Amino acid sequence: MSAVSFRAVCRHFGAVRAVDGVDLDIADGEFFAMLGPSGSGKTTCLRLIAGFEQPSSGTISIYGAAAEGIPPYRRNVNTVFQNYALFPHMNVRDNVAFGLRVKGVGKAERHAQAERALALVELSGYGERRAGELSGGQRQRVALARALVNKPKVLLLDEPLGALDLKLREQMQEELKRLQRALGLTFVFVTHDQEEALSMADRIAVFAEGRIQQVGTPEEIYRRPASRFVADFVGSSNVIPAEYAGTGPDGHWASLRPEDIRLDPAGRPATVTARAYHGRVVKLGLNLGGQELTALVPPGDLPEPGEVTRISWDLAKVHVMGPQA
Ligand code: ATP
Repeated sequence: MSAVSFRAVCRHFGAVRAVDGVDLDIADGEFFAMLGPSGSGKTTCLRLIAGFEQPSSGTISIYGAAAEGIPPYRRNVNTVFQNYALFPHMNVRDNVAFGLRVKGVGKAERHAQAERALALVELSGYGERRAGELSGGQRQRVALARALVNKPKVLLLDEPLGALDLKLREQMQEELKRLQRALGLTFVFVTHDQEEALSMADRIAVFAEGRIQQVGTPEEIYRRPASRFVADFVGSSNVIPAEYAGTGPDGHWASLRPEDIRLDPAGRPATVTARAYHGRVVKLGLNLGGQELTALVPPGDLPEPGEVTRISWDLAKVHVMGPQA
């Protein structure tokens, strides 16, 4: 049975079609990412699952039960918000135990449960600290503990790492993944960061303009994008006419990943238009007979902008998509 199902779900705000006919099945225990540009409807989908929004049409079910008419606190889901929404003057333990207090759980029991949740996020011993005195990463963990303490079956995470710097973000990505596996929970994770989605999720739904463009494993989404939009949005692929790519029917689009283009003395001549170091790789702008391409190549003795170099790629790496509109 699916953890979450959407059938033809729409949520319109006046003329804005925030969610516009979404069908979706999220499996029990899955780490599911909703990926898309700003305004594509990801957060609205999450709020529909949480029960903070109601569909304009269509149906949602959670573990087989119709969600219609069920208020947020009676759904087996909890949300971790991007801004954490902690009470700064309350201590960490009371922040975590807040939901239990509202439910009328006694003090000793809610403190014990809060301590267990804090241990899960490796914040044992922080219970007495005021939430306002924590670092960003620690606040993020408290927000997570506060959701976990309610023992939800589905955890909804809305850009939970958005406020963290890169290093902490990468560390928390690993921890979230570890927690999700260890607890066997279903995670629904909203992000506009494609690398985050690719590295963490079991499956990804790519959103644009309120609709799902493609659902698949990170590998499927990356290697076999269903549309030009997906190819462009996930991994900034080169989307080029198939005739340029050297394979596929004329008039179709083909996607060629920047890391699959290599410098090759036996390849086709291309003018270097730009060069930028990105640590482990160098990004080259190339002009191949009028077609602009981006390549990611290992650092080393590389051609300068303005110079002509030679490039090639394996035809097996080219993914041919639909006809050009
Ligand atoms: P972001 O990554 O910026 O959070 P998103 O993909 O999560 O974007 P949503 O927040 O779901 O996008 O918004 C989708 C569209 O619906 C946007 O055009 C937004 O302005 C609109 N929208 C969302 N909530 C409301 C609301 N309560 N009233 C009116 N319009 C809304």
